[in-house]
Amino acid sequence: MLTENQVDIFLNNHAVMPGQHPVKPSLISPNALSVVRILNSAGFQAYIVGGAVRDIYLDAVPKDFDVATNATPEQVKNVFGRRARIIGHRFRIVHVVYGFSTPKEEIIEVTTFRGSGDAVSTENRPAKSATRVVSESTGILVRDNSFGSIDEDVERRDFSINALYYDPLKNIVYDFHGGIDDIRTQKIDIIGDPGTRYHEDPVRMLRAIRFSAKLGMYITPRTSDPIYTMGRLLEGVSNARMFDEMIKMLLMGYARKTFELMMTFNLIRYLFPALDSLIIDRNEGARILRFLNLVFDGTDLRIKNNRKPNSKFLFACLLWPVFVLEFKDIVDLSAGFIDSSRVYKTSKITVVMNSVLQKQAEFTRYPNFMIEDIKGLWYLLVNMQRRDLTDERIASLLTNTNFKACYDFLQYRAGANPAMEPVLQCWQGILEQHNIRYDNESLQPEQKEKPVKKPRRPRKKIIINKEL
Ligand code: ATP
Ligand code: MG
Repeated sequence: MLTENQVDIFLNNHAVMPGQHPVKPSLISPNALSVVRILNSAGFQAYIVGGAVRDIYLDAVPKDFDVATNATPEQVKNVFGRRARIIGHRFRIVHVVYGFSTPKEEIIEVTTFRGSGDAVSTENRPAKSATRVVSESTGILVRDNSFGSIDEDVERRDFSINALYYDPLKNIVYDFHGGIDDIRTQKIDIIGDPGTRYHEDPVRMLRAIRFSAKLGMYITPRTSDPIYTMGRLLEGVSNARMFDEMIKMLLMGYARKTFELMMTFNLIRYLFPALDSLIIDRNEGARILRFLNLVFDGTDLRIKNNRKPNSKFLFACLLWPVFVLEFKDIVDLSAGFIDSSRVYKTSKITVVMNSVLQKQAEFTRYPNFMIEDIKGLWYLLVNMQRRDLTDERIASLLTNTNFKACYDFLQYRAGANPAMEPVLQCWQGILEQHNIRYDNESLQPEQKEKPVKKPRRPRKKIIINKEL
């Protein structure tokens, strides 16, 4: 660890002075500024770090603000009191919350400078107090709470473009790894030895892909080459963390590009193994990819238009082809209209749905409520393609809160699979009959004062394309 004097020299050597950089306090969230100020007044160092500084260089509006400090999580908690909560075990950080539970709620993530101390192996049964612990079997850092000074912290950041620190009180940017140049030349370059850094934390491979897709930057060969051989390390990452990472990768407005890159690096198999074997299948693969691309484009567009992305919908789509395959022995759901008596003859449909979702949860652990929600969407979809649609059934489907989502889903399915077109056309006709119009944006029923009418003649069947 450097002395205070040496830290000053270290900082001066990497300083970009006011006027020579685009960052200014007015571009930083007032809450993040206040976190830095308060920590400073309490005698600690504090900087705005990571994505926010990078995004300002890219002329983009930062999505959130991270602060790095030499205060320990407990000290941060003491300074901010009830506003602060310490979270995480593997990597303890503090969330300082402003406007709690209001529409303006903002969380400033405060991390303590990470140190460079040697890690203890899990084989040596580390004490609870051990701060840096590496798994004997996978080499992954399973705990990293060894704290240090800023010069150590900069070595622990993932990519040069994410290792820019901003001091808003002095209005100075510190560029420790040539991140400004890399932003200019659009490079994602890992800090340190790529093999070591991926071993410590394989999620960095996914992060490289995420930033490449989001920022439109290319990954330098020394950063990308090891991914082809080290991808399997992702098997050692907890399924809860994989789920969180997946959400960041696919629900940030760049799902299509991200998925393409994951395919290029052969990583889908570690995240969605069942889907992966379908995509690489010569017969089915192209159609499934067409479907997924429509889903990704729809999701990306939704986010661009400032509409909330929906993780259950996305997972329902990603796993739909797997469910269809598993259910094929009973009914072929990709063949258009279906005979519902065969679908519901046994409870097999529920068994298959549960099995698909539970198997996937081993890789990306989603919250339990999502399993029920995804099943709800799937049941609705299956019901939308039954041949024996009665007026009553139609009315009940139309009033289901998930109907709109499933109508979109059906559009994607029909877009990729001509056999589903008659089902879509049938529903387009039904919507017209009921005077319901979904515009591309708000996608809500047109007139609230004209609710969907309950049909007067019960049990009358609408005959749909018998030839199918
Ligand atoms: P985003 O715009 O997605 O928030 P970000 O760069 O701010 O991008 P965060 O996940 O918020 O990403 O992390 C904040 C900073 O913490 C990163 O910029 C990086 O410096 C550091 N960091 C995060 N995750 C890792 C990791 N797995 N390994 C090393 N450094 C990391
Ligand atoms: Mg961030």
